Amino acid sequence: SMGMLSACSNAAQNPGAASNGPANSAAAANAKIGLLLPDNVTERYASADKPYFEEKVKDLCADCEVLYANADGDAAKQQQQAESMLTQGVSVLVLDPFDGKAAAAIVNQAKAKNIPVVSYDRLIDSGDVSYYVSFDNEKVGQLQAQALVDRMKELGLPADAGILMVNGSPTDPNAAQFKKGAHSVIDGSGLKILAEYDTPGWEPPKAQDWVSGQVTKFGNQIKGVYDANDDTAGGAIAALKAGGIKPLPPVTGQDAALSGIQRILTGDQYMTVYKAFKPEAYQAAELAVALTKGEGPKAPTTADTASGVAIPSFLLTPVAVTVKNIKDTVIKDGLYTVDQICTSA
Ligand code: BGC
Repeated sequence: SMGMLSACSNAAQNPGAASNGPANSAAAANAKIGLLLPDNVTERYASADKPYFEEKVKDLCADCEVLYANADGDAAKQQQQAESMLTQGVSVLVLDPFDGKAAAAIVNQAKAKNIPVVSYDRLIDSGDVSYYVSFDNEKVGQLQAQALVDRMKELGLPADAGILMVNGSPTDPNAAQFKKGAHSVIDGSGLKILAEYDTPGWEPPKAQDWVSGQVTKFGNQIKGVYDANDDTAGGAIAALKAGGIKPLPPVTGQDAALSGIQRILTGDQYMTVYKAFKPEAYQAAELAVALTKGEGPKAPTTADTASGVAIPSFLLTPVAVTVKNIKDTVIKDGLYTVDQICTSA
């Protein structure tokens, strides 16, 4: 109706006049919340976190607006995106840094404007971060490595069989934690690390190229592949197949990406680590909305930045997924339907 239309345009032009919601939404009315994600080469960042985050913000604050930007694997671009959001008057930034150290500059700029920053999934190396929302990331690496070690034993492979390690991006603080957790299991296992690689920007083609080179070098000595996430695992598996490695060695992953779950079902990938992004994104959205109202919810724990400053944190629990528990995890949680997994496989 006309009335509806003019109410909408009034609200757009004169934000202050439109706040007729419940008392507690008054402070947050029309608040802008910035969401910055690091890359588009990872399935979750291309399709999962953003819609969940927006959904929860809308639920909690109908008048709030989410400004979204993806850095596309470029720290300088993320810096510009954050500056642009600060200029546009955001009340809070939810920042998943492409580069955990470089992003400290963004936190400084936000602080100068009294804008709080929630470090999303990756911990920015700044003591001025207000909150951190993520998973136990060392545990992620341990789960991946333990699953690989156990599977190789189960396959009856020699105790000193050769493996490759495909880690995440050197600019991602999580990648260092995954790696640390993985080494804590692999280094004492007797398995022989033939070669190890940190994948710039988590780019699947780079992982694929590197594995391809290792296949040329080591061929059938490669009996297992520790791979830090599903997207780079997709690259690693393509390289193993192209190199004619048979049977395909067990390969690990992370994210329970749809493509990863499908590869687990076809037997191309051995496992993934499910980190429930929905509660993660919801938690960040709740904090962001609370911060727009000047509230400071109590966090259950703390996590240390790379420089050793404790940041109030919400850390969720990662779960290892093989073909045996797909049903009890990602399907039970409603992350994917059976049809989704099966029709596009
Ligand atoms: C996230 C992973 C993701 C990877 C690549 C990490 O920081 O925790 O879930 O697969 O980045 O984007």
